[in-house]
Amino acid sequence: MKIITLNDHLKSIYGTKVYKLSLSSGCTCPNRDGKLSYGGCTFCSAMGSGDFILNGIPLQQVPNVTQTTPLLPNASMLHAEYIQPDTHEQLEYAKKLVASKISANIPESERKYIAYFQSFSGTYGDNDHLRKIYTEAISDDSVVTLSIGTRPDCISDECLDLLMELNKIKPVWIELGLQTIHENTALRINRCYPLDVFEDTYSRLKAAGITVIVHMILGLPGESHEDMYASMRYLAELSPSLDGIKLHLLHILKGTKLAEEYAAAPFHIMSLEEYIEVVVNCLTILPDETVIHRMTGDGPRRLLIEPLWSLDKKNVLNRLNKAIREH
Ligand code: SF4
Repeated sequence: MKIITLNDHLKSIYGTKVYKLSLSSGCTCPNRDGKLSYGGCTFCSAMGSGDFILNGIPLQQVPNVTQTTPLLPNASMLHAEYIQPDTHEQLEYAKKLVASKISANIPESERKYIAYFQSFSGTYGDNDHLRKIYTEAISDDSVVTLSIGTRPDCISDECLDLLMELNKIKPVWIELGLQTIHENTALRINRCYPLDVFEDTYSRLKAAGITVIVHMILGLPGESHEDMYASMRYLAELSPSLDGIKLHLLHILKGTKLAEEYAAAPFHIMSLEEYIEVVVNCLTILPDETVIHRMTGDGPRRLLIEPLWSLDKKNVLNRLNKAIREH
């Protein structure tokens, strides 16, 4: 088994580590604003993405950031059409957050970034608005790639034209939240689109030359190991082939529908050992060329109900890397 991690991939292109700047597009999500549903996917937290890294970090805790206005939407803003904090302010804020976590030996002038519109559905908005924020993001010289997380039912032909246009300036990645190929699970988690919508959008994006990364969740309620492997086999057989994958561990977060479901009728939660086995088997199924963007996820500590072992992320990654090496 050969694995290309996102770090390996980016280093091979840019010769250096590339950092991710998590940004808000100001867009909401049709699964939350009432177009499809008000509830959202059952696992989705109020911030629209379980691993939104700026979630819950007061600006005052980030070195040299004095601004007191929240840059990001909060739960009370969810039903606005979209709320757009200034992209440049967000970029600077996110760069300071990165700087607070990395070695000061890496000069700021040498740092390269991916501008990542992470929360909610980053293409669910008026095209003029999308053009403005995406263009602002890639206008920053240190940004080498534009990455946008979204749903497959939120990419209009007009939006696709825009993505193609921007892709000629800097690489554009679209990250599609698929989570599972199984329709019964999709119904249970209230994903609110069928698999053929993913297939259609995937084909349109790939035909347009856009890099596509798919998000999958391991440990969804009711799914067996074999169900998860079937999802991986499906992705492995996509044509044209998939560019990248993010494997997420299912997190049950306070305040979500999933937390209510779990409290009412607890379902199986994978142990660390089981998760490692499943991830290694998934990696074995995926083609060697698929870039592995993630092998687990970060659940916000203050919200996490299960699995609590995931809080020790260092241990999880060490154990995963050891298992991969041994395999
Ligand atoms: S599509 Fe994404 S943002 Fe919308 S409810 Fe589901 S997980 Fe949350």
